[in-house]
Amino acid sequence: MSKKNFLLAVEGLTVSFDGFKAVDDVSLYVDPGEVRVIIGPNGAGKTTLLDLISGKTRASSGTIDFKGIELTHLKEHQIVREGLARKFQTPSIYEDLTVYQNLEVSFPRGRGVFGSLFFRRTPDVEAAVQAVAEEIQLTDALSMQAGLLSHGQKQWLEIGMLLMQQAELLMLDEPVAGMSVKERQQTAELLKRISRNRSVIVIEHDMEFVRAIAHKVTVLHQGKVLVEGSMDKVQSDPRVIEAYLGH
Ligand code: ADP
Ligand code: MG
Repeated sequence: MSKKNFLLAVEGLTVSFDGFKAVDDVSLYVDPGEVRVIIGPNGAGKTTLLDLISGKTRASSGTIDFKGIELTHLKEHQIVREGLARKFQTPSIYEDLTVYQNLEVSFPRGRGVFGSLFFRRTPDVEAAVQAVAEEIQLTDALSMQAGLLSHGQKQWLEIGMLLMQQAELLMLDEPVAGMSVKERQQTAELLKRISRNRSVIVIEHDMEFVRAIAHKVTVLHQGKVLVEGSMDKVQSDPRVIEAYLGH
């Protein structure tokens, strides 16, 4: 299969920190509209893999093809501009701003003549904020100060901020950590809605959540891909049970 059929094609990706290969010859292919979940024990290299794809960390070797664009030489902000957005484990929202303002400031600027000089509340921004608010189920909280949201709502707001950037691929690092059972279910529904017209890569430990959202699961172990496939295939693989699920 040609790389062109994939939204993201990672090949032979490696990074070594003082000789230690945190990510070691990883290849990964993500389809448009796919939800891919990455699991693996602590220290397996999951977060480092996202650091490499998002340009936070530079690869020692390997390639990252996103929509035909090679990302390994781009800077973080250039990668975001290409449509690849990353959410960290701790939400980075503006606690003092309202939910509306948090979404508004995430709208890509610099489009109009004065776009990069100052920000105006134009009908397209208003429409985008309303659409995203509905998607993340925070329409009723738009005028609320973001710092007052529940933990789960803050996570959704940050996902909404990525949606405002019109990302085609979202990468989420342990998005349901610390969430209630109900919030986890709502997050699963949210990710299903989001992936109708985008791809999502999720790092997660909660197996019930993984089963609810994953199209395919990639198991990382000691920086390498141990097994990849459907949830059922991965969960019944003796190597996965030994390295991860058994503990
Ligand atoms: P995971 O997210 O799967 O728990 P990480 O990607 O955070 O694992 O870490 C993988 C390994 O790489 C760990 O042993 C970690 O200590 C090491 N590591 C990650 N980033 C760095 C860095 N910047 N310098 C040195 N070692 C690192
Ligand atoms: Mg991690």
